[in-house]
Amino acid sequence: MVVSYEMNDVLCEKCRTYYAVEVREKKEAKGIVIQFFSCPNCGNANVVSATNKTIRQKLRELRKARSFYEQATTHRSAQRRFEKYTQLHESVKRLMLRSETKIE
Ligand SMILES: [Zn+2]
Repeated sequence: MVVSYEMNDVLCEKCRTYYAVEVREKKEAKGIVIQFFSCPNCGNANVVSATNKTIRQKLRELRKARSFYEQATTHRSAQRRFEKYTQLHESVKRLMLRSETKIE
C-alpha cells in the first residue's frame, strides 16, 4: 500500500509516527531563541535552530546582502555582491553551530 504524506511531514525517530511540522519558538536565558517542533504523539522535540542576539543581527545582515545581490544590475556587481553574501552566510553558519553546542 502506498501512503502519501504532506511535503512537510516528518517521521518521528522515537515513535515512528508521521506528523506535520509546526515550528514553535522558545525563549531561553541570555537572549537565546530556540526554534523547534515536537511530535504530537510522544513529544519528542527537534531543534530547528538556536539563535542569540548576535546571530539574529547577522541573519538580518544576510537578508540585506541577499536582496542587495538580487538587485544588482550588472554581472560584475552581481558577482561581487554574491561573494559578500556567501562570506556572510558562512560566518553565520559557523556562529550557529557554535551556539548550538553551547546550549547542549
Ligand atoms: Zn513521536
